[in-house]
Amino acid sequence: MKDKNQLLRQMKELDLEINQLEQIMALLEWDHETGLPPKAVNDRAGQLALVGGMHHEKVIAREWETLFDELECTEDGESSKVETIDEKAYVRECYKRWAKVMRVPQKLVEELSRQTSLSQAAWVQARKENDFSAFQPHLETLINLNIEAAQAIAPGKDVYDTLMDEYEPGTCSKEVNQVFNNLSSGLEKILDAIQSFTAPNTEFLDRKYPVDKQNEFGQMIQKAIGYDYDRGRLDISAHPFSTTLGPHDVRITTRYREEDFLSGLYSNIHEAGHGLYEQGIDEQYHNTVLSDGTSLGIHESQSRFWENTIGRSRAFWKRWLDPLRGLFPENLKNISDENFYRGVNRIKPSLIRIEADEVTYSFHIIIRFQLEQALVRREMRVSDLPEAWRSAYESTLKISPETDADGCMQDIHWSAGLIGYFPTYVLGNLYAAQFTRVMEKDLGSIDHLIQNDRVGDILSWLQNNIHRHGRVFSPKDLCQRVSGEPLNANYFLEYIGKKYSDIYGFQYS
Ligand code: ZN
Repeated sequence: MKDKNQLLRQMKELDLEINQLEQIMALLEWDHETGLPPKAVNDRAGQLALVGGMHHEKVIAREWETLFDELECTEDGESSKVETIDEKAYVRECYKRWAKVMRVPQKLVEELSRQTSLSQAAWVQARKENDFSAFQPHLETLINLNIEAAQAIAPGKDVYDTLMDEYEPGTCSKEVNQVFNNLSSGLEKILDAIQSFTAPNTEFLDRKYPVDKQNEFGQMIQKAIGYDYDRGRLDISAHPFSTTLGPHDVRITTRYREEDFLSGLYSNIHEAGHGLYEQGIDEQYHNTVLSDGTSLGIHESQSRFWENTIGRSRAFWKRWLDPLRGLFPENLKNISDENFYRGVNRIKPSLIRIEADEVTYSFHIIIRFQLEQALVRREMRVSDLPEAWRSAYESTLKISPETDADGCMQDIHWSAGLIGYFPTYVLGNLYAAQFTRVMEKDLGSIDHLIQNDRVGDILSWLQNNIHRHGRVFSPKDLCQRVSGEPLNANYFLEYIGKKYSDIYGFQYS
């Protein structure tokens, strides 16, 4: 019988190889998005399939079962043979990774992967032609396969909860629904108040901003908030993302449009926020299953904190507007500080999620969250989706898409089989506001910190309270540990209410 330390050592050896294979896949994918010649797409697919197969072999290797037996793991991966919080988390996460793969039949995995490729191709075409009926059978198949997989992973459990668990471990839809209901009614009042005022003038944002200077400014900000270029790099891709190719190689991408300066700037800050989380994970977890953000929601809390709480604050622009004016003197001539600040915080209901502002963004997500729950619980037919989408937009944002391309086919997620993913975007906003409240208690107001060039203190606080732990704590436990209470919508509503009542000049209580 091996002792506990021998078992953990053996796990780490196996785990290291799994992590390295994941890093190799991330490198191949990063290269695919940033620089692959178009005719090399099939070559790359073959390479990825090979490495993916090797990864799969390592995840289900026989040794794991023996190890978990010797550690006397329960169905949830709990082992009484290990003592510390770190060891318990380590065994639990290794177990979950193994169990999930073991429970889904290989045939189903292959079918899911095949149907996902077909569905994505069909979605691209159907969206281009605004033809939902061409996409519908693919979505039906993908939903059915996802239900089947969820039932295999956790028989008897709510299917939606199992699907969401992939992205937000341990979070149940009943709780999320409750939090989102409170959020929704609070936001409706704020949005009503905003819409009775004239929107700020944002004409200056539509001018042409040369891309090289946008890039210069974006990098300046990334360095200022602490993103480490010696352990990362910035490239261009069609859709911005961040990816970890190794503990010392956390890359981010962005894209620039000459006539949409804000989009490039905020995707730079957003992705750097994701990068900071990964760069801040404690060294002791590097190259293990714990070396990752603990959930997509917590990940998103970090990117949105830097993008919105910091990057759209008055204090931030007090500090950075003059350097920006230095780069774009013509465009920003005669634009006052206040005009600029109001411009970057303009609120306007729109049909497209990725263009949404801080106030209306949540509605886009809540709509998708409700629709996808209904779909996987078979309370709604896929054929009814376009109409349900239109009526949901009409009743919440008072606008409705003319085409399904701008409606239920606008996002890639469902076509890629990502169901249960959407809520993490809003959870991120809520976590960010709840964490910020504690940070301000510890360090003083964020405005004060920015004005006094103490952004480093903000990052240290995040590293210490959130980043360094990697996956040791579940999102729920982390939230409780950092803020002393479960996630709720109050802090985000208070943040939004205060900020926008000040900008638009209405009473908020
Ligand atoms: Zn993000």
